Amino acid sequence: MNPTPAASADSADLSFASLPLAPSTLANLEQLGYRQMTPIQAASLPPALAGKDLIAQAKTGSGKTAAFSLSLLARLNPRRFAVQALVLCPTRELADQVSQEIRRLARGADNIKVLTLCGGSQMRPQISSLEHGAHVVVGTPGRIMDHLQRESLDLSALDTLVLDEADRMLDMGFYDDIAFVAKACPKERQTLLFSATYPEGIASLSRAFLRDPQQITLTEQHEAGKIRQRFYEVVPEQRLAAVGQLLRHYRPVSTLAFCNTRQQCRDLLQVLRAEGFVALALHGEMEQRERDQVLIQFANRSCSVLVATDVAARGLDIDQLEAVINVDVTPDTEVHVHRIGRTGRVDQEGWAFSLVSGNQMARVRNIVTTLGQEVEWHALGELQDSSTARLLPPMVTLLILGGRKEKIRPGDVLGALTGEAGFAKEQIGKIKVTETATYVAVARNIGQDALRKLSAGTVKGRKVKVHLLSDRGG
Ligand code: ADP
Ligand code: MG
Repeated sequence: MNPTPAASADSADLSFASLPLAPSTLANLEQLGYRQMTPIQAASLPPALAGKDLIAQAKTGSGKTAAFSLSLLARLNPRRFAVQALVLCPTRELADQVSQEIRRLARGADNIKVLTLCGGSQMRPQISSLEHGAHVVVGTPGRIMDHLQRESLDLSALDTLVLDEADRMLDMGFYDDIAFVAKACPKERQTLLFSATYPEGIASLSRAFLRDPQQITLTEQHEAGKIRQRFYEVVPEQRLAAVGQLLRHYRPVSTLAFCNTRQQCRDLLQVLRAEGFVALALHGEMEQRERDQVLIQFANRSCSVLVATDVAARGLDIDQLEAVINVDVTPDTEVHVHRIGRTGRVDQEGWAFSLVSGNQMARVRNIVTTLGQEVEWHALGELQDSSTARLLPPMVTLLILGGRKEKIRPGDVLGALTGEAGFAKEQIGKIKVTETATYVAVARNIGQDALRKLSAGTVKGRKVKVHLLSDRGG
């Protein structure tokens, strides 16, 4: 293996036009607002497009999806109706996101069919979709293995295998499933492994399934200045209340608060709600549907604070996250770096606050040693309410009972709200359609009105049942 220093990315040409990509792809990237390659893209795309196997490590939010997607799309033959690329992801949420990104990136090309295959969904519709054919399959290892065992998925024409978020897949115990899937792929293939961290298991995974891989490590974990870290010393009794103080002072729209235990999550949720914040929690033992509901409300900006443990937050990827709060600074520096890396994504700045009690100082010293830079200490006493108004999220979520099964599409809902209901497009936020439900974010001040008008009117010519998801923010 020949590690490529991150520095080489800086001096390189960062324009996508410097890559051997089709003009239609370049035009599409321009349309998507991808003006320049991110560092991991600049370092990994040239060898990936040249057909090399890769182990690429860069923090969450650095643009790894486009790095492997552009490469697999470039090798694809649209006229060949067979699965030519397979992307393995740890969770359904991530698989959905990857599929969406591949579809966006493929817009400039011929009709490329991307299929998502994950557990938790019925087998039968997946099997019939596979019978209709697909160029790219994105899925979780367990479900892909199921399809291989039933012979409903044929990988004999595969050119590219991608292991995305390989560290998390290993964390989740997918090694054997990945091995099974990799063995079902042709030997002559390109394998691209992407990971945010580099735990031991990655080396054995790559020894087993990659050929002479080029290793790309962007050790520069965070661009200077993009994530502003501040540490606050607290005594244990101040800890939970300090979260509210931080929120009232900095007023971030979306905050992810990490707790070290589930009990602490429950306690913090209670404290925040009592103080009038719109907060939700993620637990490991939540049903998928509940988890989806929480994530959708957080991602569409109708929840100010999401409280979670590291395990529950696994696989979470949120575009706009203004702040991360380490309610307890974690003993594991790598976890710390990973937590704070969720804020300050591609074009934005983010805050990372850590609450540290006297007996946790050693943890901060570890962070200082690892990052090779001093950290900024601040006093809780500096925090003041910067407004008398309650911190409320800008949106609320309407739940329409009916989803893909009822053939509802985002456009139908947007049409109903901006058409007969008379709302402006700017007042409508993200619209997420799941199998059986549709979640619509609307500006907080039109929540009740939108609820009334949607209930009284029709979506796709049909009456629908609508609820306002209660957030105690009314
Ligand atoms: P990762 O997989 O490394 O965590 P993602 O691939 O999810 O990161 O990318 C994070 C965000 O950055 C996505 O919203 C994506 O659309 C955006 N993005 C990726 N590449 C670029 C680029 N070159 N220019 C602008 N935005 C980009
Ligand atoms: Mg990713």
